[in-house]
Amino acid sequence: MVDAAFTFQPVGPRVLFGWGRRAELAAELQRLGIRRPLVLSTPGQADTAQQLAAQLGTQLGHQATTLSIAAMHTPVEVTEQALAALHTLGADGLVAYGGGSSTGLSKALALRTDLPQVILPTTYAGSEMTAVLGQTENGQKTTQRSEKVQPETVIYDVELTLGLPVSVSMSSGLNALAHAVEGMYAVNANPLTSLMGEEAIRALSQSLPHIRANPKDRSARTEALYGAWLAGSVLAQVEMALHHKLAHVLGGTFGLPHAELHAALLPHTTAYNAAASPEAMRRIARALGTAQAAQGLYELNQKLGIESALSKLGMPESGIAQAADLATAQPYPNPAPLEKQALLGLLTRAWSGEAPKETP
Ligand code: NAD
Repeated sequence: MVDAAFTFQPVGPRVLFGWGRRAELAAELQRLGIRRPLVLSTPGQADTAQQLAAQLGTQLGHQATTLSIAAMHTPVEVTEQALAALHTLGADGLVAYGGGSSTGLSKALALRTDLPQVILPTTYAGSEMTAVLGQTENGQKTTQRSEKVQPETVIYDVELTLGLPVSVSMSSGLNALAHAVEGMYAVNANPLTSLMGEEAIRALSQSLPHIRANPKDRSARTEALYGAWLAGSVLAQVEMALHHKLAHVLGGTFGLPHAELHAALLPHTTAYNAAASPEAMRRIARALGTAQAAQGLYELNQKLGIESALSKLGMPESGIAQAADLATAQPYPNPAPLEKQALLGLLTRAWSGEAPKETP
């Protein structure tokens, strides 16, 4: 059923999707007027980033430099180091090769320089589709939305994801799934974000088990990256609710791993909102091919071998009350009202890894 009123403003980068599309990187850079790109990656992907830069250098007719210092949660000191290198090199554009960490560094540099960005994602994080940047300074993570950080072009080359280790594929895929699920009941969801969200849930939940069984499954990899693109597009357009708030609080307070945390929380935050968003739940369940949304997500975690207990991710039991306090301290949009007692129940179940339970 379509809501009586909604606002829709298409936003986002130009997207090239498909096998081998990185071959078009040089043409995309030329299209954007970039002559001296700086290629960014994490240390773990330095070799492949260098291969990409070498290929690019041949196509552009001069050398492309790589800087492989990107780190999780975009630490400001790393950005400052990269900024100094960027100025020394006289780079006139950014190429991010990798997951959310490489994209984060590129966005942080774009915020400070306004340089154009081309992103080649190799995980399912979805950051490349958003105008959102999270940065860490002195242990504090802050998030901002700015058109300056919106990438100009995203090249989804499925081939680049074939080597993504199974564990990262699963947790990063579940992270994308969380964006799509939470988008289904967002305060500012619109018919198009709901269509994209439902299709993202279907594509990710169907492809991830195949990737787990065979990481080189080309069609499953294609489907998962397609789902990640859709999920990132949803994230770009709607406001996130309880799930992302809790993930932010728990990640920041206890340093829990980002993607795994999303996977462990998602069945519980979905159950919390079940009674308040029946239509969203019906569509999530339909996309998962299960009778019930929250239980379906819990079973998907088990099928994918994802750790479902926050206790196993390093959260102390004493953190349950602290997290419930932090989550209720600042009000934010969520379909179900945020009640301390109900949140304690949710967090206790998520901590011990129990099945999700709908709270009235
Ligand atoms: P990541 O970028 O840190 O990558 C995880 C690890 O996998 C890294 O060590 C990386 O080197 C390695 N890796 C990546 N692709 C690989 C490949 N194809 N083959 C082999 N190894 C590979 O993690 P992530 O989950 O992609 O991103 C998480 C970060 O993104 C967090 O900092 C999160 O806050 C941010 N994020 C931001 C947004 C946004 O809109 N701003 C959205 C989602 C995530």
